[in-house]
Amino acid sequence: MTDVLHLIRYEAHPASAYGILKGDEIYEAMGHPPFGAITRGLLVGPVSTLTLLPPVQPGKIVAVGRNYAAHAQEHDAEVPEEPLLFLKAPSSIIGPGEAIVLPSLSAQVEHEAELALVIGRRCRHVPEAEAWQVIAGVTAANDVTARDLQRRDGQWARAKSFDTFCPLGPALALGFTPDEVGALILSCRVNGELRQQGHTAQMVFSIPRLIAHATAVMTLEPGDVLLTGTPAGVGPLRPGDIVEVALEGVGRLHNPVVGG
Ligand code: ZN
Repeated sequence: MTDVLHLIRYEAHPASAYGILKGDEIYEAMGHPPFGAITRGLLVGPVSTLTLLPPVQPGKIVAVGRNYAAHAQEHDAEVPEEPLLFLKAPSSIIGPGEAIVLPSLSAQVEHEAELALVIGRRCRHVPEAEAWQVIAGVTAANDVTARDLQRRDGQWARAKSFDTFCPLGPALALGFTPDEVGALILSCRVNGELRQQGHTAQMVFSIPRLIAHATAVMTLEPGDVLLTGTPAGVGPLRPGDIVEVALEGVGRLHNPVVGG
């Protein structure tokens, strides 16, 4: 994984800027980040001095339900015969360190650690064999879910789309091979306690299958995000919690949890 580049976006004036993360330091990302050629520029400073933003602001978030068999089982749900797609509002995106706000409309908000694919080019009807050509890179996501509303509503738009329900980041990892993306450990800790641990090889439907399935329906645009499902172990979030989604080789996404 030596050639993987970790691209972060941070608050700058007058607009946000992209940088390259090396250890604890950020360097300028020169060229055409996030999807064009990128070269490393001057040292910006330690990452701790910057306010990180979500690495992209997608026009849409496409997500897939029950893509890890053990997670489907914990909800007594069948693994579907084809990928189960849903949409999550793009306004739910927050960056690393931003607070997840528990809405008063729900009494059961849960974390879902996920690998997020970031689309790099406009595409439609992508065959599985060409799927990796439209994926720019991967990052970590937390598909925060109001589980009680998900059950009550029957469809998931409300349960998945509250503001702050999609922490994304910290880095967009560019340059993984498909085999490497298929062999990453994905975990979630709440206040340091391990809640979820899975492996991307455990996905029911492969990443090329998910891209083919989604683009049979809709055009994907650069910056769109596809969430690939969560492993077993989802559980409640409470005010005062710190939730961490860790994706091997990509980074750790921390978010505090506050009451609404
Ligand atoms: Zn999910």
